[in-house]
Amino acid sequence: MTAAIVERDETAETHRDYYRLVRTVEITGRTVRATVHRDFYAEQSLAHVEMINDYGTWTHLADEPTVEWWYDTPHPRTDLTADTFLGKTAERLIRRAAAILAPPTTSAPALTPHLLDAISALLANAHGYDSQHRVDPDDITWATTHGNRLHIIQHDDGSVTFTQAHRDDCPFITTTGTQECDEDCYLPHAADQ
Ligand SMILES: [Zn+2]
Repeated sequence: MTAAIVERDETAETHRDYYRLVRTVEITGRTVRATVHRDFYAEQSLAHVEMINDYGTWTHLADEPTVEWWYDTPHPRTDLTADTFLGKTAERLIRRAAAILAPPTTSAPALTPHLLDAISALLANAHGYDSQHRVDPDDITWATTHGNRLHIIQHDDGSVTFTQAHRDDCPFITTTGTQECDEDCYLPHAADQ
């Protein structure tokens, strides 16, 4: 997932010895600035993206290596427009910043080592300890359209329950497994639906 990019400012300069593009945007509330400086010499050129940190100073986020863009751009001349030749590199830097600053997705539980071990045990129980099992998109659609939502409950004794047998407001779910199901989680058999 990539964060939204809001344009704030763009400055293009052209000089006899260099040309430069500075593009400033806002990403997830952060001010982000991409600078592409095309000097006559590669070693005096730069392409990087920074953001303003919580202390009000610039923090470096990423560089675009000179070899990736410098040789595709003309030598400085006063009659060329900087954004024509540097816009693509600035765009790539801004996109990289957006990927770095994207908020973590919170919709799925993080797969901790313990949960991965539990999934390993689930697979081993179902298909054997040396198993490999590929689920097709159809299987996934079927599973998510039949029965309840998947709940993963981590118990205090280290056991993990994977279940689709309970509705969201069942006591077993709301108390993360410390109370029993109230037996109102009746589901008609899939064949009857
Ligand atoms: Zn239940």
